[in-house]
Amino acid sequence: MSSSYDVIVVGAGAVGAACARELAHAGRRVLMLDPGRIEGAAWSASAGMLAPQIEAGRDDPLFELGLAGRAIYRDLAPALKAASGVDIGFWQEGIARVALDEVEAGELRSKVAWQRQGGHRCDWLDAAEVHSRWPWLRPTFGALWAPNEGAVNAAALVEALRADAIRHGARLEQDTITALEREGDRITGARGNGRYSADAVIIAAGAWSGRIDGLPRPLSVEPLRGQAVALDWPAGVPGAVVYSRDCYVVHRGSEAIVGATREYAGFRTETVPADIHRLADAARALSPAFAALQIRRAWAGLRPATPDGLPIIGREPRARGLWYAAGHGRNGVLLAPITGVLIRQLLAGEETLEQLDAMRPERFWSC
Ligand SMILES: Cc1cc2nc3c(=O)[nH]c(=O)nc-3n(C[C@H](O)[C@H](O)[C@H](O)COP(=O)(O)OP(=O)(O)OC[C@H]3O[C@@H](n4cnc5c(N)ncnc54)[C@H](O)[C@@H]3O)c2cc1C
Repeated sequence: MSSSYDVIVVGAGAVGAACARELAHAGRRVLMLDPGRIEGAAWSASAGMLAPQIEAGRDDPLFELGLAGRAIYRDLAPALKAASGVDIGFWQEGIARVALDEVEAGELRSKVAWQRQGGHRCDWLDAAEVHSRWPWLRPTFGALWAPNEGAVNAAALVEALRADAIRHGARLEQDTITALEREGDRITGARGNGRYSADAVIIAAGAWSGRIDGLPRPLSVEPLRGQAVALDWPAGVPGAVVYSRDCYVVHRGSEAIVGATREYAGFRTETVPADIHRLADAARALSPAFAALQIRRAWAGLRPATPDGLPIIGREPRARGLWYAAGHGRNGVLLAPITGVLIRQLLAGEETLEQLDAMRPERFWSC
């Protein structure tokens, strides 16, 4: 068994790397364990949007948590750049969610209303305003405009979080964890090719989190495949992020990232030609500027999905020393930094956000 750590983080993707960084900053001796390039890791497939106002519904705990998560990025992005030299591509110029018919316009207007009533920046733009702001879009029935929404480059984020964690003393070991080590009711470490011991083990292996032997009960996380495509970003069109009911389009570098499908296909990570053509066609239908553009590349990733769409964050009541930071579904990039903060606070026995109650691990189990 290798030398003992305060905390082992199983999985150094968006969530695991964020947890490791927070804990390392707090002075804990941290070991990150990750196989390296794994087919379908969600962070390497992600569109990287920071969009709680677009994604979450009314009375959804994800809304407040997502806003708190988004707010962290404003300081985190420059801090990571200064510490690691990696630019995570933080962009915060707003996201529009366009309505393609009257029914959708009504739904989005009501979303605008409750967000404004809650004091959040959110506007309804009528069809003429949408046309004047984004003349390259097809005619719409208006749009919800959330000026504080944004995006990051998720792969750069993971690189920067890992590097900064390492800078603060964490270690990153390339290994695929297959089982937990246990003594009585206490989890004492994890094993893959090597064996590692620590006072606390955090399960943050994304869609693979439930595959680790020795968990006290099945983890309610399943892979939800998401396919996406990249088209060229059309010449002369200013960068933007636009959602419609059929797809979203995210400007990144010279590309338009168009996503994403949602299907339960087990751990299969291949793309399906019919699906990726449907996505590209949805982008072409959203804007004539995309009409002639060909698919540059296509890919798929596995989101870690839970039954209620909320992550699982907290202590496993049945085994001392075991913690979960898993199941972040469609919003794990948005929620990674706030999850790191929450995990640090939980491990230190500090007060955390009230919304965390909705994320507690035991909510799916009767005992
Ligand atoms: C197409 C697509 C678009 C998306 N767009 C967005 C978006 O716009 N905004 C947003 O917020 N979220 C988005 N997401 C979701 C987001 O990517 C995920 O919620 C997030 O990446 C989850 O982070 P994670 O660290 O839990 O899992 P992952 O990012 O999947 O990372 C898991 C890590 O665990 C490691 N691992 C796996 N098995 C083991 C093991 N046995 N031992 C050790 N390590 C292991 C993997 O190598 C990986 O590094 C998108 C996802 C997809 C697929």
